[in-house]
Amino acid sequence: MRIGLGYDVHALVEGRKLIIGGVDIPADRGLDGHSDADVLAHAVADAVLGALRAGDIGQHFPDTDERYRGANSLELLAHVAQMAREQGWVVADVDTVIVAQAPKLAPYRDQMRENVSQALGVDVSAVGVKATTTEGLGLTGRGEGIAAQAVVLLESCRCPAAQ
Ligand SMILES: [Zn+2]
Repeated sequence: MRIGLGYDVHALVEGRKLIIGGVDIPADRGLDGHSDADVLAHAVADAVLGALRAGDIGQHFPDTDERYRGANSLELLAHVAQMAREQGWVVADVDTVIVAQAPKLAPYRDQMRENVSQALGVDVSAVGVKATTTEGLGLTGRGEGIAAQAVVLLESCRCPAAQ
């Protein structure tokens, strides 16, 4: 087994969609970034890459690469899960926490779990999504940005893609 940890932050700015875990959330500001800036998908992808000891998403999907402008980060996550399978690993379990002062994310949690589990090719029961605030403290508390953390457990497999 292998464990990976992922952490990501994006700034909240006007004129951008707020996309978290593949859900387009109604909000007056969205996350800034080269791709769709899906902070949850990025944290999970970094956790998978960490467990693979394969660097980070900045290396695999550089923000200087025009191919990733406006990219759907769930597709990047699916690509990372495929990399894991090709190296003989499957995603066994994922837990995450999103740190945001606003908006309230609880209504979107189940859809985020569904989206992330589909991208990873695992059952929805293997993906946890929680949300918390920092009680008004720090960059997330002041509404300057949104952060996400993820832990991923990989299990060695003999799946077809690994043969
Ligand atoms: Zn990111």
